[in-house]
Amino acid sequence: MQQAVIGMDIGGTNIKAGVVTLEGELVYDLKAPTHSEAGKAALLNTIEETVKTCLQKAATCGLHIIAIGIGTAGFINLKGEIGSATANLPDWKGTPLKEEIAKRIGIPVFVDNDVNVLALGELWQGAGQGINDFLCVSLGTGVGGCLILGGLPYQGRSGYAGAFGHQIIQMGGVPCTCGSAGCWEQYASVTALRRQAAEVQEKAWADNPRLIFDEAKADHRKAQNLVNQYTEYIAVGLSNLIHHFNPPAIIIGGAITEQGDFLLDPIRTYIEQYTMDGFANDPNLPIIAAQLGNRAGLIGAAKLAVTRMEA
Ligand SMILES: [Zn+2]
Repeated sequence: MQQAVIGMDIGGTNIKAGVVTLEGELVYDLKAPTHSEAGKAALLNTIEETVKTCLQKAATCGLHIIAIGIGTAGFINLKGEIGSATANLPDWKGTPLKEEIAKRIGIPVFVDNDVNVLALGELWQGAGQGINDFLCVSLGTGVGGCLILGGLPYQGRSGYAGAFGHQIIQMGGVPCTCGSAGCWEQYASVTALRRQAAEVQEKAWADNPRLIFDEAKADHRKAQNLVNQYTEYIAVGLSNLIHHFNPPAIIIGGAITEQGDFLLDPIRTYIEQYTMDGFANDPNLPIIAAQLGNRAGLIGAAKLAVTRMEA
């Protein structure tokens, strides 16, 4: 019987899950509402039901499921427990997710945070193919990060490595959700871009940041200034990381990367300005947009299961 895994991406709004062969072919997928407001017990039941639906589907396709990979927001410790949670999944902290689902289903379960999983997805089928060491940064509600080393996310002492969004770029700066202040994500996340638009009295842009880019492309001066400021903030944090890691490539994820080179080109220019000679030039350090879009979580979670079973 051909072997396969289940990949699952738990977001604040939806749970996406699917059956993926060890070669990476997605043979079945489904989406269910997360209903995080119903609490942790209800969410665990939803996950269990979703896994069982996938198991049934796999069986009818003649596939044997050997492992389950799950990506979720928050910091995941080495035991597969949710070490901290975001406002999207308020009840999630402390949940022994790996153990609980493994107990209910009886198949090995592997859990990691959403950006580590995104990076694994890009490594397998997206912008990271053929690059075994790279940094991945995700720009969204916050700023998430992952360091892929030798084809695996570097986990660190507790499993929390890659919290690049909480590097402090301004002492005494904007208060952060982590309790500190001046963290990079308070300047480089899409949430921060919305705040920056509101600060220059552009409420419509704050509500829909895509408009900022539309206006900037149409030569609107104020919008161009915002894009310049925002891309410089992104580049400052990336330049710190480039000096720390001298990475072979950086992959940037998040819906905002649909702006393509209009977003990435100014980032590349600022990085050249902020990094020492040789770190980002000669030849140019590839700074590339993630390719899998909203499929990355599911595909990456499947890759997590495949990789950890092989390890
Ligand atoms: Zn912070």
